[in-house]
Amino acid sequence: MAADCLFCKILAGDVPSTPVLETERTFAFRDINPTAPTHVLVIPRDHIENAATVDPAHGEVLAEMLDTARQVAESDGVLDSGYRLVFNVGRDSGNTVPHLHLHVIGGRGLAWPPG
Ligand code: 5GP
Ligand code: ZN
Repeated sequence: MAADCLFCKILAGDVPSTPVLETERTFAFRDINPTAPTHVLVIPRDHIENAATVDPAHGEVLAEMLDTARQVAESDGVLDSGYRLVFNVGRDSGNTVPHLHLHVIGGRGLAWPPG
């Protein structure tokens, strides 16, 4: 656990969240400010700063994050309609929390221009 990391505190239960799925290496919970009917964050239990600090040693946990995202999409009923997976990195992306998180967004049309 990294000191003063919001998502490490959520993992520890020190900050409340709405859990969706827990796996050995990952945790999924609802975004506090959802941008779509499904907006879930999938995080590794280990503190990794962001997608730019991922290295090949993180391969297993990354694969588990994608698998968790698929299970979340299935349980939220958006597996067939589709969903978007987003990693934000750095200031221009709007990244605010320095603990790797995969946004799982779905439940409405996301394509631009709308199809
Ligand atoms: P970022 O912009 O860093 O990729 O995404 C951070 C996300 O974390 C944002 O979508 C924001 O709404 C969400 N978030 C920030 N603070 C909290 C919190 O305390 N609880 C939950 N569940 N989500 C949060
Ligand atoms: Zn952390």
